[in-house]
Amino acid sequence: MSKINIREITSQTRFYNFHTHTQYCDGRATIEEMTRAAVAEDFKYLGFTPHSPIPVESPCNMSIDAVMDYTAEIERVRKAFPGIGIYKSMEVDYLGPEWGPSNELVKTWDLDYVLGSVHFVPTQEGKPVDIDGNPERFVRNLRALFHDDLRYVVDKFYDQTLSMIEEGGLDIIAHLDKIAANASIVDPDIESYPWYKAHVEKVIDAVSQQGLIVEINTKAYAKTGRMFPAVTWWPKIIDKGLDVIVNSDAHYPDLIKSGRDRAFEILSDMINR
Ligand SMILES: [Zn+2]
Ligand SMILES: [Zn+2]
Repeated sequence: MSKINIREITSQTRFYNFHTHTQYCDGRATIEEMTRAAVAEDFKYLGFTPHSPIPVESPCNMSIDAVMDYTAEIERVRKAFPGIGIYKSMEVDYLGPEWGPSNELVKTWDLDYVLGSVHFVPTQEGKPVDIDGNPERFVRNLRALFHDDLRYVVDKFYDQTLSMIEEGGLDIIAHLDKIAANASIVDPDIESYPWYKAHVEKVIDAVSQQGLIVEINTKAYAKTGRMFPAVTWWPKIIDKGLDVIVNSDAHYPDLIKSGRDRAFEILSDMINR
């Protein structure tokens, strides 16, 4: 359960971002630099979400030794910028029953809220592999590590997502169909298959049952025109009455609001249709 009322904030203003990266993981700026960028855009709330420590080797994730320093830096910036609500969170990876947002260790970090994500899919042999980001790397790993079985990777991605939702510990589900970005490079029609749609529908139903907030992630919109979840899913999300939050997932200060205005435009067109 989050310590802050996210729904109240997002129902009152669009001047927020609850998914922000910094040098504590793979971001390119400091907490202070990202805060300055948010203040310059008149944001009233800013939540920081470094990729959580995980019990496997990963260059993109924060080290467990950095958690105390991260907490202290959040406190410092919070005091230095009293005009904006600064929140301490993490984008907690789900790896399987052994690690995810419901892990006891996550509770000891005393986060204001928890963003849950699947970036890793275990191979047929059980080794967690990052399926996000660089498409060339995805294709290489698909051939070399996943026996060239795209259906397996996609099935497993959504199975992991469902397990994460069921095990709990998260408040917001990040980019719930992220696999679509790389999977659609290998098979451009993948999102039109009934089995694929059934996966996303199941996830949306589970999110609804658990009362989670659905993130609309605008990070890739400027570059690829894609939002997560894909815009085709938004009517179902709205019809189900789910709470949505629009986040830029910014890794750079100048991208702090990238894609968000467009997402709000599409959302309000759908709601008022
Ligand atoms: Zn992510
Ligand atoms: Zn992120």
